[in-house]
Order: sequence, then C-alpha cells, then structure tokens
Amino acid sequence: MFNKKMIIGVFLLFIMVVSGCGQRNAEPGKKVLILGFDGMDLERTKVMMDAGELPNFAKLRDMGGFSPLATTIPPQSPVAWATFSTGLNPGEHNIFDFLRRDPDTYFPALSMADVKEPKRKLGIGRWSIPLSSPEIKNFREGVPFWKVLSDHGIPVSVLRVPVNFPPDECGHQLSGMGTPDMLGTMGTFSFFTNRPVDKTTETGGRIQEVEIRNNTVEAGIEGPNNPYKKGEVKLTVPFKVYMDPASETIELRLQDQSLFLKRGDWSRWVKVRFEFMPMMNATGIVRFYLKEIEPYFELYMSPINIDPKNPALPVSYPSGYSKELAKEGGPFYTQGIAEDTWALNQKRLDDESFLKQSEIVFEETLRNFHHEWRDFHSGLLISYFSSTDPLQHMFYRYTDPECPGYDAEKAKRYGSVIPDTYKKMDRVLGEVLSAMDKDMTLIVVSDHGFAPFRRAVHVNRWLVEKGYMVLKGPSLQESGEFFDNVDWEKTRAYAIGLNGIYLNMAGREKNGIVQQEEADALKAELIRGLEAVVDPDNGKKMVNKVYRGDQAYSGQYAGNAPDLVVGYTRGYRGSWQTALGAAPKVLVEDNLKAWSGDHCIDPALVPGILLSNKKIMNKTNPSLMDIAPTVLNEFHMAPLPAMTGKDVLE
Ligand SMILES: [Zn+2]
Repeated sequence: MFNKKMIIGVFLLFIMVVSGCGQRNAEPGKKVLILGFDGMDLERTKVMMDAGELPNFAKLRDMGGFSPLATTIPPQSPVAWATFSTGLNPGEHNIFDFLRRDPDTYFPALSMADVKEPKRKLGIGRWSIPLSSPEIKNFREGVPFWKVLSDHGIPVSVLRVPVNFPPDECGHQLSGMGTPDMLGTMGTFSFFTNRPVDKTTETGGRIQEVEIRNNTVEAGIEGPNNPYKKGEVKLTVPFKVYMDPASETIELRLQDQSLFLKRGDWSRWVKVRFEFMPMMNATGIVRFYLKEIEPYFELYMSPINIDPKNPALPVSYPSGYSKELAKEGGPFYTQGIAEDTWALNQKRLDDESFLKQSEIVFEETLRNFHHEWRDFHSGLLISYFSSTDPLQHMFYRYTDPECPGYDAEKAKRYGSVIPDTYKKMDRVLGEVLSAMDKDMTLIVVSDHGFAPFRRAVHVNRWLVEKGYMVLKGPSLQESGEFFDNVDWEKTRAYAIGLNGIYLNMAGREKNGIVQQEEADALKAELIRGLEAVVDPDNGKKMVNKVYRGDQAYSGQYAGNAPDLVVGYTRGYRGSWQTALGAAPKVLVEDNLKAWSGDHCIDPALVPGILLSNKKIMNKTNPSLMDIAPTVLNEFHMAPLPAMTGKDVLE
C-alpha cells in the first residue's frame, strides 16, 4: 500500500543527510588546527606550566603566545562555544544558558537543539505513519566560521564542537554537546538492581528493579516510543543475565549477542536493535558496567547512544562520515555530553568506574582526532576534547579542603585526577607539536576556567524572602520544581537556568504583571539587593556582579535573554533546584554532591586560555569573540559584518 522507500525517507529515525561538499582537497596549503579543551583553567595551567608539568603547553607558549581568553556572560559551555563558532555575542547566536524558558508556561527546555515529531501523520488501525519530515533544529543562530571557509572551497573538519547538532552541512562534521541519546535526552542511564531504592529522589537515570531467580535476571531496555504506533508505545528490548557469584561474573545475552562481564568491568559497545515495524528498526549502542553481584545485583547501562554505524539522527555530516569513523576505530559515544557525571552524582557509578568511563570517552575522542590529523593536508581542523570539564566538575572536592565533600583519605588517591587530566591534554598537544610543519597555525582554546562549588544558592528563596516572588499559602512555604507553588499574579521576578533571572513581564510572560515602565527600576533594585547578599552562615559575599541582559547582549535574539545574569563569587553557584525553578526553604546550603567544581559564576573570575604558535598581539585582551575573525584572517578572509571581534594573532 505504501512505498516503503518513501516511508523510510520521511521517518524520524531514518534521516539521511544528503552527502554534499564532503570532498577533501589533498593539495598542500594553508592549515589551521584548533584544539579545544573544555574548561581548562588559566591559573591552574599557568601554575602547572611553571612547575614543568605541562612541557608542551610551555613549549607552545614560548614559541608563540599564551593569554587569558575572556569568556561569555554567562561562562557556560553552550554559550561560550556558540560564541567561539560564530564570533557573535549571545544576543546574535541565541544561546544564553543550558536551559531556556517558555514564557507561555514558565517551563524550562533545553537550549541547544530540538527534535520534533513529524507534523503530519496518517493513522491506519493501530499504526501511525509519518508523512512529513521531523524537525530537528539547532537553536544556534549565525554562521560559524567553518561554513564561511567551506563556502570558499577550503576543506574543513569539525569534531565534537558543542552546539553543532544537527551538524552544519559542510566538510566533515561530528556533532558534539547538544546531541541527544536515543530517548531524546542529554543522557539517561539505566540501573538494574534488586537493592531497595528510593526512586523518588532519583534523577538523571532510570532505576529498574529486577528479581533474581536461579541466579538469572530478566530485564528490558526501554527505548524510544514507537513513532509508528498510536499513543505512547515504548520499544523494549529484553535481555537476560546469568550470574556466577562464585567467580563474580555474569553472562549477558541480548538479542543475538552474548558477553561476559566480571565485577568492576566495563563492557564493549553492545548493539540494541529496536524494531518498530516488521523489517524496520533503529539501532542504538550501550555499554554495561557490572558494579556488584552480591549481596545485591547492580548493573549500570549507559544512555542509549545513537549508533554511529547506523545513525538514527544526523550525528555527522555527511551521514556516512560517522560510519567511516566507526568502521576504522570502532563504535564511540555519539551523545553530546558523554561522561556520565550524573551517574556519579547519584552514586550509581563510583569514582573509580567514572574515571574508567571518562578514559573510554577520551580514547574514543582521540581516535576520531587521529583519523583526521593523519591526513590533514590543508584547510581547517578543529578537535574538541571534553575531559578537562567533567573531571574538574567531579573531582574538585579532592583538591579543595574547604569543599564540604572533601575526604582527606580519598584525596590521596583522587587528588591527582585533575592535574593528571591536564597532563593528558599536554600529551595530545605534544603529539601535534612533534609532527606539525611550519606553515600550520596552531590555536589552543579553552572556553572558561574553573572554581570550587562549595555552597548552592537557592535564588528563588531570596526572591521569596524579599517579596519579588510570592508563593501560594503561607509566605515561607517552599515551591517544588517548575514553579509548582508560585503565585504568578503577584510574582515580579523568577530564576531558572544556571545564571538567569527573568522579570514577570506583562505582555511577555503568560501571567506577567511587571509593566514596561517599572522594569528598569526593578532591575536596578534586584541588582543592588543581590550584589549585597551574604551567606548567613559565614558572612561571605555570594554574588560578585549581576549583569543586565539588555546591556550585556545586542542583536535580534537579545529579547530571549534573561533580564539579569547572576555572576556568583568563587565557591558559590546557583543550585540545581534553582535551575529547574524550585524555591526550597533555605537561602544557601552545603553542596555535598560529587559535582563539586563549577564555572557558572562571574565570567571575570573564570577566563579561558588561548595559546598559539603565532605571537598573540599585545594589549588585544583576546576573547572568544575573536577566534572566528582570527581564523578567517589566517585564510586571508574578512570577518562577516556581524562579527565584532578582531584578529589577535600577529
Ligand atoms: Zn562544565
């Protein structure tokens, strides 16, 4: 009845990007290599270089230059890398935070990309056939500099740069942060156990209670909804585990695969095939980690990654490019934020297994980089390395005795994780330095620095205490996530995301009450109040500076910006509850999570770094806005009119 090819062509899980300008120019010519190290901190890099611990960074500094690199307001990776890519301020590229909010509902949503189901579907019995293409949208606006180069015939390869999903259609692109897993989330792990678990406090993952019968566990991997079925019908793939407690080993059987795992082992990538119609399926890939067999069975499964060999969504351009990479180096994490920080926060992974997983991510990233570096003859190559960011987030507590989660004993083992990660990046740089020829321009960039995250600030509580936010019922009552208990008719300001505060504007927000003519005075009042607020437990200032959105940003999307952006002092950060619009009872509390380092504070306190084999011009005070014009100039091309940065290399 239906042409199967047509159906495949329009189906959400079968988007094939038509291969276009994937040709590589083998002619030798101008080369620019950019290595991006997320969150490499200026001070730490300096100290380690001076101590001789980063010999290759020091070598590059002496060859050309080393400079602080001003980050964005706020210093969050999606915002910063979008500025890096486009040379635009957030008011022009439209990424202001990890989360944006819908003024019609006050609900948060992810800010980077969106995958919407096809608009037109045809219902036949219990089937529902998509007739139009699904919408996959990168919210990043503006033109990245690699697109400009590619349009001028210069070969470009862009690996894992954040906020590049779906990837730009030019050269070779592997998408990065912002790429979802098969469930459409930023990464949802699963945890199979027979240990009694309080599911109500679980976030970031799915706990599945299992039973053990005759040393056998039967469970299922819950995949995406079947878009071919009416209503929400989850695709589930069953698997079986045969346990041998004596040898602390399991055999896991899944579809036609079988693998053996010892306690403490990470599995190889395992293919999971979801069948949504006879003969039609989509595959994802997962890794298992066997945490425990006795007294309780505990099996972690990674988020279901889009299979690079058979991608259900466009993780690369051209679509065959991820296959090429996987064919050569094996499958790899395609999910944008691959290190499972949340599983460690929730204690589903421990320090050791998280470290191992981070190592896997790094090795896979390195393999992808080698694939390009080996044949890099001309044009632009960018390779983004994530490791420095998640490892600083999670292991800061072992380097900071003032951190509430500090443990002197464990610090002996894990205190070196962060410096070791920096040294690892130094080795990547060393490889490049030893093989590079003289006409290559090398640029090393980090998007922001790092700081301890000791105390979590509940900004909505402050708004409640000062009367800017009003809760239903008695005034000191709490509010749960998504402004559960907020009386919008009386609320003038609300905080959501990691740094943002919005006024409840009449005509903009659904139940807005703040009139245009009151807005200026209200912003000024909030800034005065927030900049004066101190931690009631120790009298320390918690906020360094509050930025006004209408002054910090300009451009066509500036209206989407938060009205105020809070720049915390070192040691403080907006709480996770604040990010989701909750107002707990207290103003500030100890951060006891493993996630103990952060950078979402005042951008002036966490600059990134810039190094190059070319001299960095004096007194240019480089910022992320300058990278795009600098690279274009290396190829003798003028910056686009919207780019306001400057070339910073001599
Ligand atoms: Zn980070």
